[in-house]
Amino acid sequence: MTLSLVLAAVCLTAAVFSGCSRSVEREFFAMDTYMRIRIYGGSEEAADDVRAEIERLSALLSATDERSEIYALNHSGGSAVTLSHDSFEVLKRGLDISNEFGDVFELTLRPISRAWGFTEDENRVPSDAELKHLLELADDSRLILDERSNTARLPDGFEVDTGAVAKGYAADIAKALLTEKGVEAALIDLGSSTILAYGNKPDGSRWKIAVKDPKGGSEPAGLIEFDGGAISTSGGYERYFEGPDGQIYWHIIDPRTGAPARTGALSVTVLTDEAFFGDALSTALFVMGPEGAAEYYEAHGGFEYLMFLEDGGVIISPGMERLFTLSE
Ligand code: ADP
Ligand code: MG
Repeated sequence: MTLSLVLAAVCLTAAVFSGCSRSVEREFFAMDTYMRIRIYGGSEEAADDVRAEIERLSALLSATDERSEIYALNHSGGSAVTLSHDSFEVLKRGLDISNEFGDVFELTLRPISRAWGFTEDENRVPSDAELKHLLELADDSRLILDERSNTARLPDGFEVDTGAVAKGYAADIAKALLTEKGVEAALIDLGSSTILAYGNKPDGSRWKIAVKDPKGGSEPAGLIEFDGGAISTSGGYERYFEGPDGQIYWHIIDPRTGAPARTGALSVTVLTDEAFFGDALSTALFVMGPEGAAEYYEAHGGFEYLMFLEDGGVIISPGMERLFTLSE
C-alpha cells in the first residue's frame, strides 16, 4: 500500500468516530474577483450556504449592477433609499471608519474613481480642473443614514463605492455563518486581498498566507504564518494603468488630491481580528504612507502590518516580524 492509501484508510476509519479532517472547498467568482473557501470538518451544505451568502452580499453591494441597493442609492437623485440590513450596516460601519481615518478614507469617492476609469470606463488622466470639481463630491459627511427607517440619503451627483470594505464585511459574515453551522476551522480567501482564517487546522499546522510581490511579479514576496485572524492587502499592482506620460496610476485614491495615492507605498498588508476593519485599514494606511502609517500604529495599535515601499524597502511592525518571512 502506498503512503497516501494508508493515510486515506486511517482517515476513513477515524471519520467514523470523529468526522476526521475532511475539508470541503468552493471556488467561485464574486465581487469582481476569484474567491476560495476551504472549511474543515463541515458539510457540503455549509460550503454551499456560505458561497450563496457571499454572492447575495455581492449583488447588494455592487456599484455597477443596476439591481443593487448601492446602485439605487447612487442614482436616487437625492431622495432617501430604503436599504436592507446588510447594505445599511456596511454604510454605517463604513462611515464610522471614515470618521476614524479622517481625510484619507472616503466612501464617496466613486465619481473620482470613474473619472480615472477605475469603475467600468476607459482609463484616462482627468485634468486638475475636473478633479477639483469632483473633489467637492467626495465628502462622507453628506451621506445621511437614518437608523429608524433604515434609509440612506445622498445629494444628487454623489456616489458611494464600498470597494474598500465590501470584501471585509463579507468575510466577517462568512465566518459568523460557518461558526453558527458548527464549522470549527476555515480559510475564507476573498480574492487574496482579503483573507480570514479561524480555528485550528486538523493537522495542527499554522495558517500560511503568501504575500504577493508588490511589483506584480508571479513569485510571492514572503509568507505570513499565523494562528488566525484577518489579513488584508491593498496594493497598487491590483488595478492600474500607464498614462500617456508614462506614469503608473492605480486605483487607491488620495481623497485629499483626487489622484492615486503616491506616498511611497507599493502595498500594505495588515493583520487584524476583524476583516471589515482590516480591509479599510490596509487602504487607509496605503494612503497615509510610511510615516503616517507608523504614527497610526504607534497611536492605536491592535493590529500588525507590513508595507512595501517604492524605494525597495519594507516596513514590518514588531508583531508582524514574528509572523512574516521575506522570500530569498
Ligand atoms: P482591493 O479592492 O484590491 O482589495 P482595497 O481594499 O485597497 O483593494 O480597496 C480599493 C478600493 O477601495 C478601490 O477600488 C476603490 O473602490 C476604493 N478606494 C480607493 N481609494 C479609497 C480611499 N482613499 N478611501 C476609501 N475607499 C477607497
Ligand atoms: Mg481595503
